[in-house]
Amino acid sequence: MTGSAVIIGAGIVGASCARSLAMRGIATTVIEKSASASGTTAHGEGNILVSDKSPGPELEMALHAASTWPRLAKDLSDELGDDFPSIEFEPKGGIVVATTVEGAGPLLAFAEKQRAAGIEANELTISEALSLEPYLNPAMSAAVHYPQDSQVQPVIAAEALLASARRHGAAVEQSIRLHGPILNREGALVGILTDRGDFRADAVVIAAGPWSGDVAATLGVTLPVLPRHGMILVTSKMTQRVFHKVYDADYVGAVGSGEASLQTSGVVESTASGNVIIGSSRQLLGFDDRLRVDTISEVAARAIRLFPFLADQALIRTYGGFRPFMPDHLPLIGPDHRLSGLWHATGHEGAGIGLGPVTGELLAAIMTGTRPPVDPAPFSPARPSLASSLVRAA
Ligand SMILES: Cc1cc2nc3c(=O)[nH]c(=O)nc-3n(C[C@H](O)[C@H](O)[C@H](O)COP(=O)(O)OP(=O)(O)OC[C@H]3O[C@@H](n4cnc5c(N)ncnc54)[C@H](O)[C@@H]3O)c2cc1C
Repeated sequence: MTGSAVIIGAGIVGASCARSLAMRGIATTVIEKSASASGTTAHGEGNILVSDKSPGPELEMALHAASTWPRLAKDLSDELGDDFPSIEFEPKGGIVVATTVEGAGPLLAFAEKQRAAGIEANELTISEALSLEPYLNPAMSAAVHYPQDSQVQPVIAAEALLASARRHGAAVEQSIRLHGPILNREGALVGILTDRGDFRADAVVIAAGPWSGDVAATLGVTLPVLPRHGMILVTSKMTQRVFHKVYDADYVGAVGSGEASLQTSGVVESTASGNVIIGSSRQLLGFDDRLRVDTISEVAARAIRLFPFLADQALIRTYGGFRPFMPDHLPLIGPDHRLSGLWHATGHEGAGIGLGPVTGELLAAIMTGTRPPVDPAPFSPARPSLASSLVRAA
């Protein structure tokens, strides 16, 4: 039985795990090297998507997330009260658009497969698409509406989850340095050494996003999490002209691809504050965080192809972040089979905002031996697709 846990990383995944564990009475401490929610959670968008996922375990998780976020948003709001900022949960739905003749067939075939897996994916005529999104480029070849997609403000959501975790007894230590593992005589992990002393716990959970490989190495094991860079553009505030999350059909290919080279797609959405967020790119470059002009212009061109009015808008900033990329495209959630006492909640790549809370629930269910929200096996560190990448020595 797990009575205590230390979680390394206070992004949305660590915050979700802290809340789920603390709510089950597990004495939980989160340690964060910097400030809470300042990692990848602060450098992406806040989409909670089913539309970009192929049938399989990640989609099962996404469907669970889609059905539980509305309740979670309400629970957090009720619990934290009016003084806490809104997490801006918006069940706005998504629209995926094929911008080329060749793109229509694959988009409609993908939607068909998703419908068979339980997703609401409604094919739209061009005039139906334009009635939902009047500023869309009418020169599209196909469009599909996904009513289950939604959006949240990721930093506020992570802070709200962390605030709730604290109310359930969790402690959060920020600006702290991890020095190494505490092992018992049998070689099991029983805590961590930091610049603020020892933190002993039954479970040590790595939730360090793209830095999870470094944290694992410090604790003595390897982890194949890589940073996959992504860039976002932000326009000045405007009267609302984008009403759903709208993206081009190439996005699905970019999400599922393991290519190291640059992949871009047009992803456009409004925020509650009136700015339009434009994404996104994917590139495996290590932790190189330079903002590249070629990437910015390619992303902008794709967005303009979707919404021509964007060509006349001002950008106020552009930023980048590192998605925690796994070689087999599935998050890593559960106990490490190589080092007793070590657990993982990481590797969500471009879906960690949406899947953070269900990850916390899954981790807590495995730890407490209760019914998991989804089948844990596909996310297990012991899964066959990771056998060659998970060796003991760091
Ligand atoms: C451009 C872009 C767009 C995205 N859009 C979306 C989207 O629309 N929807 C979606 O669901 N996801 C999206 N994502 C992905 C999402 O942001 C990530 O999957 C998610 O934020 C991962 O959360 P995390 O808590 O695992 O990692 P992080 O938020 O990175 O948190 C990890 C934390 O661990 C801390 N840490 C690292 N090392 C240590 C250490 N040694 N000791 C203590 N603490 C440590 C870090 O400081 C950090 O705060 C996007 C990402 C990018 C880059």
